Amino acid sequence: MDDEVGAVINKCIQCGTCIGSCFSGRVTALNTRRILMEHLAKGVPIENHDALWFCVTCYACQERCPRGIPVTEIILKARNELARRKGLPGRLKNAFSYLEKHSALVPGKDRNLEMRKELGLPVYHSQFDDEARKEVSEIVKRHLKEVIR
Ligand code: SF4
Ligand code: SF4
Repeated sequence: MDDEVGAVINKCIQCGTCIGSCFSGRVTALNTRRILMEHLAKGVPIENHDALWFCVTCYACQERCPRGIPVTEIILKARNELARRKGLPGRLKNAFSYLEKHSALVPGKDRNLEMRKELGLPVYHSQFDDEARKEVSEIVKRHLKEVIR
């Protein structure tokens, strides 16, 4: 975190409005108030928390923070740093690897693919034609190579 972000975080009064507003925090390990508290009290870098991946960027925390702290922006910045250091977490990595190979984020269901084969229908791995698939693959390689390693 740079000095500018550090100064903004210093304004946190630990009221908990952010985590109280966080839909993801109700069912995951994400706790924005605690993450900021650990940073303020113990100097733990924000980007040390794998739970940042649970943020769905709804901006509710940021909109409601009474101190005007851009909580979501801070999370996004920290998450970029986390991705640079450790790559994407498993499921995201799998999804983007699949996107690179097949131009789709989610593999087709085996059963559906089998049925298409049985019926003599072509088996598609994505909605794109070959040329577009190549382009998607190139884009993923160019921009995400480092984080899906
Ligand atoms: S809502 Fe704002 S002031 Fe309150 S704990 Fe969260 S970041 Fe800190
Ligand atoms: S932006 Fe992220 S941390 Fe903030 S309320 Fe939404 S899910 Fe929670």
